[in-house]
Amino acid sequence: MQGVGFRPSVYRHAVQTRLTGFVRNTVSGVEVEAQGPRLFLDEFLRYLKTQSPRQAQMESVSVETILPVAGEEGFRIVASERSGDIVVGFPPDLATCGDCVRELFDPADRRYRYPFINCTNCGPRFTIVASLPYDRARTSMATFPLCQRCHEEYVEPDDRRFDAQPNACPACGPALKLLDASGREVQGADPLDKAVRLLRGGHIVAVKSLGGFHLCCDARSDRTVRELRARKGRADKPFAVMFADSGEAGRYCSTTPEEIMEMLSVSAPVVIVGRREGTDLSPRLAPDTRDLGVLLPYTPLHHLLLKGISPLVMTSGNLSEEPIIRDEADLSRVLGPVADYALVHNRPILRRCDDSVLRLARGRRLVYRRSRGWVPGSLPLRMDGPPVLAVGADLKNVFCITRGRGAFLSQHIGDLSEYPSVKFFEEAVTDLSSLLGVSPGVVAHDLHPDYASTRFALAHAAPRKIAVQHHHAHVASCMAEHGLEASVIGVALDGTGYGPDGTIWGGEFLVADYRGFRRAGHLEQFALPGGDEAIRHPARIALSLLHKVLGDAAAPVSETVLRGLPADDRHVLLQMIRAGTRAPLTSSAGRLFDAVSALLGLCDAISYEGQAAVRLQTLAVSGSSASYEHAVLESGEGLVLSFAPLVRRIVEELRGSPDRARIARGFHEALARGVADVCARIAAAEGIKAVALSGGVFQNELLLVLATDALKNAGLTVYSHHEVPPNDGGIALGQAAIALAALKGD
Ligand code: ZN
Ligand code: ZN
Ligand code: FE
Repeated sequence: MQGVGFRPSVYRHAVQTRLTGFVRNTVSGVEVEAQGPRLFLDEFLRYLKTQSPRQAQMESVSVETILPVAGEEGFRIVASERSGDIVVGFPPDLATCGDCVRELFDPADRRYRYPFINCTNCGPRFTIVASLPYDRARTSMATFPLCQRCHEEYVEPDDRRFDAQPNACPACGPALKLLDASGREVQGADPLDKAVRLLRGGHIVAVKSLGGFHLCCDARSDRTVRELRARKGRADKPFAVMFADSGEAGRYCSTTPEEIMEMLSVSAPVVIVGRREGTDLSPRLAPDTRDLGVLLPYTPLHHLLLKGISPLVMTSGNLSEEPIIRDEADLSRVLGPVADYALVHNRPILRRCDDSVLRLARGRRLVYRRSRGWVPGSLPLRMDGPPVLAVGADLKNVFCITRGRGAFLSQHIGDLSEYPSVKFFEEAVTDLSSLLGVSPGVVAHDLHPDYASTRFALAHAAPRKIAVQHHHAHVASCMAEHGLEASVIGVALDGTGYGPDGTIWGGEFLVADYRGFRRAGHLEQFALPGGDEAIRHPARIALSLLHKVLGDAAAPVSETVLRGLPADDRHVLLQMIRAGTRAPLTSSAGRLFDAVSALLGLCDAISYEGQAAVRLQTLAVSGSSASYEHAVLESGEGLVLSFAPLVRRIVEELRGSPDRARIARGFHEALARGVADVCARIAAAEGIKAVALSGGVFQNELLLVLATDALKNAGLTVYSHHEVPPNDGGIALGQAAIALAALKGD
């Protein structure tokens, strides 16, 4: 990969080992020819395999002996062919490295406190590249001619900044500016110092980061955090918090060494960790959970800001679900209405890229959002084929373009119900296609006819369209991530997805491979009165669940259990459910979580997707075990996992003085056991041992762990997501794999 300092690192070590030869980029990777004593060559090879730059991902190393020896003199970095560069590509944005941080705070260094310091091992990449091959003239640094000293570093193979395209210093590079709420430059003060003072004073400042603007404020000021929530229109959805360093993060949160390693990695994602009790952090940062999304500074500007004030709220600079703001032209959408000031600079962001988000579940990654730090890196596919565009789904949209055996997932696009996101989606499709140098003739899309992504796919000029069922795509995504080829039992526990039978799917057991699937089982269906409107009101879903299980007894029970539901609503909803008007059936696991959360009085209405389930999970973590029963029914079309016994028990317990945490935990446990039970039956009938877990409900760490254990106890092999999200942000990978398989079969 170009731009990660691999060739200079090879060069330096070859010279140190006194080997002769050359290093160059080729169409398939990096080629090194080295001559010297056997012992030195072995040492050199060991170095290549173990000591490569931290962000150079090596897929494989092949060694070949060339005889007779040609007698080269010296070691050279050979200029690469242009076409070769395009295939080799360029890396994601890289968090500021330790060497640069040291220089940043060294008063003797010429880049002391310079917010744009970088080197071959770190700095912006994806977000500043206009086109390939990756060199300065095609980046947003093109308008900053290198000064003499920077140029010397840039051409010197022994320098850490050799070939570092965004190389810059205070004499020749970008500079900061502070704007007030009306967009006018604040004069007469150092922009950085002034921004720090404003943040300390309780102001909200928009900061131009790597892939877009962040909204920042003092994470300890409850008043300011509340103000930010009110202005941004974000009632309860968690805010991420940036700490100055890992030590500080550890004082506020119960971080493990593995979690700290993730935060300090070149990708520098938001890592969700446990929050300590009794700190001075605002309780409004993440009111629904005991967790906190934590990140560490990943640009020099972050390091400088956080030296002045820490911890800081770092949330995407946007309104509701719109795309993150990347340039000053759009800044007025938040500057004024949300932010009091903006700290900006004149290095344009060419590509939006939101922060990535993950947690560690039993030491392995559980990814919620795969974006900055990973994009545009590819995932390996088992299948080859023509370029495919897989458009993903409408929530948490990420699309995928394949080239050869590489699946390139886009950055996080967002919710396509908003027009600005659809526009961003369309631009990003064009952009990634041109970066990869492909124009896909095949477009894979969801089966849902009303998705914006589906409409885009159907209007696309490509001659071949392939419709993929939502949960088949989820399962195939998990298979593709693990390189599985044989059939699996796919468990898709999800929000809602379009079922081929006209009902809403979302709790599915599929016997699947890439070529197709059979619905071998599903969660018991119940009505969703009012459709999408019910999704925003878990209490309505709970009423429907009660009706399904208790029939006419649901009405009196709901009066005591669902007090938040007005009597008129109750009456109308029950009529809709009984008559089946505007009350589509669903087997959605996500909706079951919503209903149980509402039964326990945790959430009558939601302000963000998944809120009811998050509250239920948070309560369950502290609960003691309860052995609730599940039932598996045999129907003509397959197995049905019934929640009726569970709901009856919950209703009974709610009559007394219930231990809600225990009920919440018992629900998780029963669902996990039920999943394992259904899978074991399918495994016995089909002779399949591999189970792939996918769908947004598996963002729930507790359920993931419980289900994994239960399945393993049943003698099954469990695969879950570690590279792409189990939610719809990972679905495009599955669509792409399914499309490639369909093309093979043509
Ligand atoms: Zn660096
Ligand atoms: Zn310079
Ligand atoms: Fe989904």
